Amino acid sequence: MNIQDIQAIELLLSTPKKIAIIPHRNPDGDAMGSTLALYHFLLKNNHFPTVISPNVFPDFLAWMPGSENVKIYENNKEVCTKILEEAELIFTLDFNALHRVGEMEQVLKKLTAPFIMIDHHQSPDDYSTYTYSDVAYGSTCEMVYNFIVFLGKKQDLDKTIATCIYTGILTDSGSFRFPKTTGTTHRIIADLIDLGVENSLIPTLLFDNSSYNRLQLLGRALQNMKVMEDHKTSYSSLTQEELNSFNYVKGDTEGIVNYGLSIKGIVFTAIFIENKDEGIIKISFRSQGNFDVNQFAREHFNGGGHINAAGGKSEVSMEETLHKFENLVQKLEI
Ligand code: 5GP
Ligand code: MN
Repeated sequence: MNIQDIQAIELLLSTPKKIAIIPHRNPDGDAMGSTLALYHFLLKNNHFPTVISPNVFPDFLAWMPGSENVKIYENNKEVCTKILEEAELIFTLDFNALHRVGEMEQVLKKLTAPFIMIDHHQSPDDYSTYTYSDVAYGSTCEMVYNFIVFLGKKQDLDKTIATCIYTGILTDSGSFRFPKTTGTTHRIIADLIDLGVENSLIPTLLFDNSSYNRLQLLGRALQNMKVMEDHKTSYSSLTQEELNSFNYVKGDTEGIVNYGLSIKGIVFTAIFIENKDEGIIKISFRSQGNFDVNQFAREHFNGGGHINAAGGKSEVSMEETLHKFENLVQKLEI
């Protein structure tokens, strides 16, 4: 962030304001962590912040401090629209294109208050007044930490804010494994632990709260996995019937895609998950090394994301979608 922008934001934050903080639709640990960290920081600085999520967040994030105060746009459109219209400042975190908030986009487009974007995805859209966008970072949470430091407010960091930031860094870095995890990331983590973050408890809350149904669903996804060895690719799928038969609840498929990369020699994987309500197949892509899944998702499946983690969708049947994917992979030089 340049010094002019920081000064302008400091000025905006120098008097108490009504502030809306928005994560992307289907918020993950980084989206929830960054919005809640900022929420607690702004509360501490005498503002009136509200986190408005476009839709519900998964249960495995419901322990996060402040999550009980998050407003869900889809469940309460009138109240949320009013809060957005009355907000004097809008933060959008962990996304960089307004369509990522779904239907809420129509409301956001009409707002006249200044927007501040903090995000680490590629190719930001041009909707924000102040933009802190950098693909070098592994998480938006790491950037929120920096943002607080830029504002000269490092002393405001406390256990609550640190817990939220820690959660997003942990989840978006694959537990500190992904390539964008730097020495600086670890120094920030050290700082957060010194502030009291329960670094042994948080992974348990996030990852060890599975259900029997979820493990059975994981088993089905693993059984459905196909390997295209010559193309160093694997992929799996789950139909709506399969999801239903294991009493799928939101969040159950989180992380399953990563198993496809755990096979030796595989550098590209995908999972195709049918959503009959929305009439789409939602796709998650992951890669290791140079194969750019963001580009692949943008070009072929109306999506995007990062080089090694991206998503997209398909509006044709599962069979046709998988067929299209196989054909594309056969032409890839990986
Ligand atoms: P996931 O596979 O975990 O849903 O998403 C992986 C990454 O891709 C995340 O950073 C997410 O923000 C991005 N992503 C997922 N789905 C979409 C999509 O439909 N469009 C775009 N532009 N990005 C997506
Ligand atoms: Mn993120």
